[in-house]
Amino acid sequence: MEEEIMRVEEKQEETGVPAVALRGLTVMPDMMIHFDLSRKVSINAVEKAMTGNQKVFLVTQKDPNVNEPNQEDVYEIGTVAVVKQITKMPGNIVRVLVDGLEKARLLSFEEENREYLSAFIQEIPVDSEQLDEVEKEAMMRSLKELFGIYSNLYPNVGKSLVKQFETEASLEHLLNQIAINMPLSYTSKQKLLETKDTKELFETISAMLLNESEVARIKNEIAKNVKERVDKHQKEYLLREQMGYIREELGEDEASDIREYEEKLAKLKAGKEVKDKIQKEINRLKKMSASHAEAAVESTYIETMLEMPWNKATKDNLDIVHATKVLQEGHYGLEKVKERILEVLAVRCLTSKGDTPILCLVGPPGTGKTSIAKSIAEALNKKYVRICLGGVRDEAEIRGHRKTYIGAMPGRIAEGIRQAGTKNPLMLLDELDKVSSDYKGDTSSALLEVLDSEQNSKFRDHYLEVPLDLSEVLFIATANSLSTIPKPLLDRMEVIEITSYTANEKFHIAKEHLIHKQLEKNGMTPDMLTITDNAIKDMIAYYTRESGIRGLERKVGDICRKAAKEILESSKEHIRVTSGNLEKYLGKRKYSLDKANEVDDIGIVRGLAWTSVGGDTLQIEVNTMPGKGELKLTGQLGDVMKESAMIALSYVRSLSKDYKIKSDYFEKHDIHVHVPDGAVPKDGPSAGITMTTAILSAVTGIPVSCKIAMTGEVTLRGRVLPIGGLKEKLLAAKMAGMEKVLVPHENRKDVDEIQKEITDGLEIVFVKHMDEVLEHAFVKKDEV
Ligand code: ADP
Repeated sequence: MEEEIMRVEEKQEETGVPAVALRGLTVMPDMMIHFDLSRKVSINAVEKAMTGNQKVFLVTQKDPNVNEPNQEDVYEIGTVAVVKQITKMPGNIVRVLVDGLEKARLLSFEEENREYLSAFIQEIPVDSEQLDEVEKEAMMRSLKELFGIYSNLYPNVGKSLVKQFETEASLEHLLNQIAINMPLSYTSKQKLLETKDTKELFETISAMLLNESEVARIKNEIAKNVKERVDKHQKEYLLREQMGYIREELGEDEASDIREYEEKLAKLKAGKEVKDKIQKEINRLKKMSASHAEAAVESTYIETMLEMPWNKATKDNLDIVHATKVLQEGHYGLEKVKERILEVLAVRCLTSKGDTPILCLVGPPGTGKTSIAKSIAEALNKKYVRICLGGVRDEAEIRGHRKTYIGAMPGRIAEGIRQAGTKNPLMLLDELDKVSSDYKGDTSSALLEVLDSEQNSKFRDHYLEVPLDLSEVLFIATANSLSTIPKPLLDRMEVIEITSYTANEKFHIAKEHLIHKQLEKNGMTPDMLTITDNAIKDMIAYYTRESGIRGLERKVGDICRKAAKEILESSKEHIRVTSGNLEKYLGKRKYSLDKANEVDDIGIVRGLAWTSVGGDTLQIEVNTMPGKGELKLTGQLGDVMKESAMIALSYVRSLSKDYKIKSDYFEKHDIHVHVPDGAVPKDGPSAGITMTTAILSAVTGIPVSCKIAMTGEVTLRGRVLPIGGLKEKLLAAKMAGMEKVLVPHENRKDVDEIQKEITDGLEIVFVKHMDEVLEHAFVKKDEV
């Protein structure tokens, strides 16, 4: 801090006051402060003051680096102070103690005086006189309050002052005291000094106090949080250290883990790349302290890598005779399926691994897809793993997460291989049609890489980081329907279709497999329970309605459990379930057969439908009534069926002449088509010929034979088009006791493939045109 001086005279107007230019310091009225002077002019000024009335004008330099300040180098407003004490210090330094009196404006420095700065100044009166007392009191209270808060947050600044301020009676004095005692920069103090108006000063100081308080509060909060965090880290560190110590004491220290890993690695059968990778990770682990959070992740990774069957394989049993035996024993029927599987296996025996096609078993639920895959694994003496793909939407589920993610794991494929413990298991990709893709990546392209023999020898799992060889895995996929399997996946697979079971097949499966299986499962022996053939048939007809046999298996299980209970409760040793006492075990019949009508009827025709749970017959009813030519449709109809109805009506109208229907008949009558029965909506166009026949019958009054059922799509011109699901439909027709079934001509090849068991006793007529349909369906006049 330094300054300059001028001469002092009694009269301010004529004579200057010795002045000191301060560097980096602003002195305010009421402020008692020490500072050191080193500039000669400044020392002279103070000395001059001491010879006079001790008053000195203290003004702050705008730039502290200026050595010989002029008027423009100092602020306009300064403070007149009394020099209380001067002490000479070593090195030509003088320490002064001053007491600030009042503000003054610098008018000019006296030019001639070279010895010290002499300033002409004008006192600035305090202007608080305009404020009334109440206002002053309010300001005082508010200031005291704010300063109280402030001093709480800065205890070293003002605790003692709070008390002192409490008794302070002058607003100006209080304002000055606060300004002096707050740790403000000299520029801020200068600003306060320049504030003329007391009210403005009050506002500025209040704002400063508030602001400082807020800053202090936030600062304290941050400090608290930081402290907490540091404490937590410290605690963790201590705990880890302790844990390390305990483990060491128990002989489980890291070193022993690492030794174990290295021993395992030495024994591991794997390629160089894998071994190098594991060694690298072990080395990394060595460098980490056990307290390192990442050490656990690293250990898990190393353990997983060591557990993977990199080069471990089982020897396949390539004996095709043995395979045939296993498949035959495990499953009834499915001849075509078994044959194709055996063919594929035979090829596999002959060719190098990996080139065999991937089998995809497609069929309704409960038809033995999963269990036949298990049998294949057994036949080949392979390990079996099942990966359920239903609902997999995230690519990472297939490919794994990178190990940097918290809780990262290998993907399902790599995990499957690890579970199998060999590199050549049979892997069942169950429910392949239920995978979907979302924003998290394309699951099907990941699967494609798994299934593609070109790529899968180097399958990359994100977690493992080294390529995994899947080329020796035998993949078998299952699906309920082909329609939702992505095309590129489908291209890589050999599709084997498994269709619904007939009642006879179900009967044999139940008799030869299910009953044994369930007896065993429920801890019973064949001596304890017999289920008669008729009872089995009734179970199939009246208690289940399904394509597969899961429901039937459950029912057999129910009987077993009830029988077991009965044996334990009574003295009986043997239970015989017949169709007569079946209700006792399974409750009331759940389904009834949709039997053929007894009499030929007008406007009622039996169609055949395919639903996801098998075939069903559906009876279409048509009524006509006087009206305005409307077509009404009711019942369980899908959109396609509604279109079928319209096409049928148009075709019928085109036949008006042939059947001598009055030309205005369709304008004056409403036609109502109803498809009763069944909770499952039956969509599909295959009811076309049925509807046409029913409408024409209703319009002409010609009855339709009750022993006939039909299926086929119809075009506007009456051609009959082929349909799907014929096996299930014929099965349903037979169950309903139909004698004759009309089938589109183009479906002839399908009929040839259907077992005799189904077609026996059914007269199947192939039709190309509606004329033929009507020819067979309508009851001739002479027959009536
Ligand atoms: P899917 O995988 O097609 O849904 P599952 O393989 O789970 O069906 O088969 C359900 C049950 O039916 C299994 O207990 C299975 O052993 C049995 N099963 C299915 N088809 C046959 C069959 N042809 N012979 C013997 N048991 C069968």
